[in-house]
Amino acid sequence: MKKAVFPGSFDPITLGHQDIISRALPLFDEIIIAIGINDAKKYMFTLEERVQFIKDTFKNEAKITVATYSGLTIDYCKNVGAKYMLRGLRNPADFEFEKAIAITNRKLSGIDTLFLLTSAETSFISSSIVRDVLRNGGDYTILVPHAVRVK
Ligand code: ADP
Repeated sequence: MKKAVFPGSFDPITLGHQDIISRALPLFDEIIIAIGINDAKKYMFTLEERVQFIKDTFKNEAKITVATYSGLTIDYCKNVGAKYMLRGLRNPADFEFEKAIAITNRKLSGIDTLFLLTSAETSFISSSIVRDVLRNGGDYTILVPHAVRVK
């Protein structure tokens, strides 16, 4: 059974994340979308909200589960028996940052990271831009899945 963990903050999930996850689905039997809990980080959405947005987005996709974890991502992967991590790449800055982490992770654990390049239509989207648009009353709905709605 080929299992991957897609770790991230997902504050909130965007169309960019959704694109990467949907395109990775044919490669794996199960993808665990895992929200890392980092007490040092300030989030706009609560953990429960972020989990719910992702669950609603993929409610018709049996291969996807949503989870939360704290500690090292490689330890979480080992705990759930996943040999692969999934990450998305938007630009050279993402690549440089992700490269160092992926090599470290593989050295420490043998767990490999699979990267997919973002689609052109979603390459400009980031959770931080979505949060900025939201804070300033703009139309964030074109950047996120339908499940992400703020009352
Ligand atoms: P983190 O805080 O771990 O960076 P994010 O939720 O911001 O968590 O991102 C999780 C993953 O999704 C990262 O690999 C990031 O590069 C990728 N990602 C974010 N936005 C996009 C996008 N628009 N297209 C493709 N991948 C993306």
